[in-house]
Amino acid sequence: MLELRNVTKAFRETLAVNNVSLTFEPGQMVGVIGRSGAGKSTLLRLINRLIPASEGEIAFEGTSVGTLSGRELRAWRARCAMIFQQFNLVNRLDVLTNVLIGRIGTAHTLPVMFKHFPADDRATAALALDRLDLLPQALQRADTLSGGQQQRVAIARALVQNPSLILADEPIASLDPRNARLVMDALRRINQQDRITVICNLHTLDAARAYCDRIVGMAHGRVVFDGSPEQLTARV
Ligand code: ADP
Ligand code: ADP
Repeated sequence: MLELRNVTKAFRETLAVNNVSLTFEPGQMVGVIGRSGAGKSTLLRLINRLIPASEGEIAFEGTSVGTLSGRELRAWRARCAMIFQQFNLVNRLDVLTNVLIGRIGTAHTLPVMFKHFPADDRATAALALDRLDLLPQALQRADTLSGGQQQRVAIARALVQNPSLILADEPIASLDPRNARLVMDALRRINQQDRITVICNLHTLDAARAYCDRIVGMAHGRVVFDGSPEQLTARV
């Protein structure tokens, strides 16, 4: 359903992503591993068209993502929910409002300022928080939560976008082991219950092995491994 064909991204002389071809099936949970600088976050940013590819094609359900513009491009980005290492919540807003931002995108600041959200959006956001065991924190300021809780708020914010894909860029790199487990458990549960494809950059092999159906290894912009955790274990 999501297909990358011979995709290259050059930043001047650096080939951040170098002739990568990958196909992602609906409902997969994929761990992308590799050292810092391997091209993992560039890969995610190419998929949601935050940056354009230098060469090659990215297609979702047969439609090329590279030629989208305006409303179609915004719609595509909404279908690719992003999770970041540093959570990217609005600290001074409460948790529920942070999740509601997922319903409207970040371009519309007025409803956020005045907290004018339709009742059904508020219900949707509350349900998402409940799925992540964060309903009791709904009215707390985001920055009063622990890092692991904040990352689960970011997952709730992603969920209410009704995404086809969740693109997670080092979602557990800032967390202690316990919170890392809670966040990966939450991503896996959503992946399986909602059949949302999750593509997750991870810098540790252990997390990828424990949670993902498939591991893609990158080095110097290229895919150097693509297979199951068992196949990876057999190789190293
Ligand atoms: P990773 O996520 O695996 O750490 P990145 O995708 O961030 O790797 O980076 C891959 C390579 O591309 C690195 O050499 C990085 O310095 C380079 N790079 C990434 N983004 C840019 C940019 N906006 N401008 C120039 N070089 C970049
Ligand atoms: P990562 O966490 O993936 O290693 P970085 O810290 O390397 O990311 O990069 C953070 C930001 O800086 C990204 O937006 C990336 O595009 C940009 N960047 C990375 N490398 C370079 C570079 N060599 N020149 C310019 N921008 C870069």
